Amino acid sequence: MPPRLRFAPSPSGYLHIGGARTALFNWLWAKKQGGRFVLRIEDTDQDRSSLESVRAILESLRWLGLDWDEGPEVGGDCGPYFQSERRGRYRQLADELVEAGKAYRCYATKEELDAARAALKAQDPKAQFVYPGWWRDKGPADWLEGRPFVYRFRTPAEGSARFEDEVFGVVETPNSAQQDFVLMRSDGFPLYNFSCVADDHDMRISLVGRGRDHLGNTAQQVLLYEALGWEPPRFAHLPMMLSPKGEKLSKRHAAVGVMDYAARGMTPMGVLNYLARFGWSHGDQEIFSRGELIEAFDWKSCGRSDGKFDEKKFSDVAFEHLKEPRLTSDEDYAAWVRPFLAENGLTDEQVPEGTLRAALPTIRERARTLVEAAVALDYYFREPPVVEEKARSKFLTPAHAPLLAQLRQVYEGAPRWTAEALEARLAEQGLEVKLAAQPLRVALTGRTATPPIFDVMAVLGRERTLARLGRGAELAAG
Ligand code: GLU
Repeated sequence: MPPRLRFAPSPSGYLHIGGARTALFNWLWAKKQGGRFVLRIEDTDQDRSSLESVRAILESLRWLGLDWDEGPEVGGDCGPYFQSERRGRYRQLADELVEAGKAYRCYATKEELDAARAALKAQDPKAQFVYPGWWRDKGPADWLEGRPFVYRFRTPAEGSARFEDEVFGVVETPNSAQQDFVLMRSDGFPLYNFSCVADDHDMRISLVGRGRDHLGNTAQQVLLYEALGWEPPRFAHLPMMLSPKGEKLSKRHAAVGVMDYAARGMTPMGVLNYLARFGWSHGDQEIFSRGELIEAFDWKSCGRSDGKFDEKKFSDVAFEHLKEPRLTSDEDYAAWVRPFLAENGLTDEQVPEGTLRAALPTIRERARTLVEAAVALDYYFREPPVVEEKARSKFLTPAHAPLLAQLRQVYEGAPRWTAEALEARLAEQGLEVKLAAQPLRVALTGRTATPPIFDVMAVLGRERTLARLGRGAELAAG
């Protein structure tokens, strides 16, 4: 049976790059195995969840190209895919567990629990409070009808929760380490472990991939599967993404939102490639296309060691993707860079697709991001090009005016408009490249540093080159 995987974010902010890594690995496995990738929104924490955050998460996943087969805005036969809309089912399961003696209603009030916690603290400030099991052995006859209660799991006193993780191997937690954890709050909202198990089962998830920070939760979840008489899915826990100092990676250390990297001008594959190498390796290969990742990915080659976020490496990997036509085609590059050109005021009409595609090979090697690419491409499209003051005062002076006028003439008569022919033409006409190159460059681009100027001319074409040389001569004459 093809596997069913899922990504189950809690919508309490943007999509963190650690979450994106989790989504990626599940997505890769689904693609590789011809399975399904399900997106489920875990929005049971009412105070922290927001629709805006759901939107941000969907936007990030879409931007990354991690499309889901079932979930919000897509549908599917295991919906609804928002946990807040599945509360009836959780209540039903909780009641079934109570009926079977696997869970119980606990009417302990917050005040009672706080008092017990304070009393313990007074005795031993370091002690960890554990629910004392006041309601564990009570039954329907003791229920305080009309009063709020929570559902608690009746953790078996003996035994242990055991599962075989795809990455961490056999993980076994003695039940004595678990207290009678809450399944559902008095307001009818389930707690994570309970709703997660209910949904992973109901959505027929066959493998759960998530961060190793959930290993402790998985022990409770395994107990729940047992109590419900369900077969658990397989689990794969992934090492964590840490700050360079070894702390949990957060906003304090680096930009952690997926869309921060979009705004910085990385491509989705640049981001995904860096994330893929977090906790997973394939020999010493560092750079992967989407197809190569799908082909090479395997839970078996995930490691157990946490990794440290390395901003420099991230930027190098993202650059590699932009640079290599094998990884970002001219067509894709053009599409990715357009919004950045637009941000700089160059509209789609000002940027003909043909010119854009022809210009890309001249800047690929130098633009590390799409932001830099938009800057590097600017003079190809802006009429007239912006002339840097320093460039102008050095190379467009009255002394340069005759040279620029001559260059215009020389190129007006050029029979062939290719970079080689344009370069050769200077010598043919008795001009020294060394003397002519900088004034030529500044007249055409407004800058002193650009790709080889004859490549630039080939892209600009005869008409615009001549017009810019004419204007350069005028500027120089003052
Ligand atoms: N909502 C949980 C989280 O965002 C999901 C964990 C899981 O994948 O089970 O951490």
